[in-house]
Amino acid sequence: MEPIFQVDLTAIKDLPGARIEVQGQITLPSLNWEGNRLLEFINPWQISLAVTNVKRGYQVDGKLSGSYRINCDRCLEKVKADFSSDFNDLFLPEAPLPEEEAKIFTGDELDLTATIMETINLQMPLKTLCLPNCRGLCPVCGSNLNHETCLCPQEDFDPRLAVLLKWKQEKGGGNDG
Ligand SMILES: [Zn+2]
Ligand SMILES: [Zn+2]
Repeated sequence: MEPIFQVDLTAIKDLPGARIEVQGQITLPSLNWEGNRLLEFINPWQISLAVTNVKRGYQVDGKLSGSYRINCDRCLEKVKADFSSDFNDLFLPEAPLPEEEAKIFTGDELDLTATIMETINLQMPLKTLCLPNCRGLCPVCGSNLNHETCLCPQEDFDPRLAVLLKWKQEKGGGNDG
């Protein structure tokens, strides 16, 4: 994977306590998300961060924001939503202590690709709905119940209809292919 965002450390190198602030625009690749749905980022996204020389390494504190598109969990229609999250990461030139969480860097540049992708993976909601009360798809005929009303029996239906339905499914092969 090509680096998504890198920070040049030369200005604060060898200066413990020194800090730089950086902001920029980034381009994110589409991801395969929960439920085998495509998570499409509406690029560019915004990133802003501060990098502090903490002597042993560099502390990064930042914010990531942008918009994305994904299918609604219930009706599968494309939904546009906004994302915004803070992130923090420690970068060290050597392996961290066992109880420490840090990333390793080399040279005079920090590669924030892993930090950015982790922030998305951890903070992106697993479920997205087009409407808080999205009615989803009819389990029988597949109609989008937000837009259409079908006559299929839903839960609590008349048992006589269930028989009819069963008969229809046996005859017609049903909807599960
Ligand atoms: Zn929906
Ligand atoms: Zn239906």
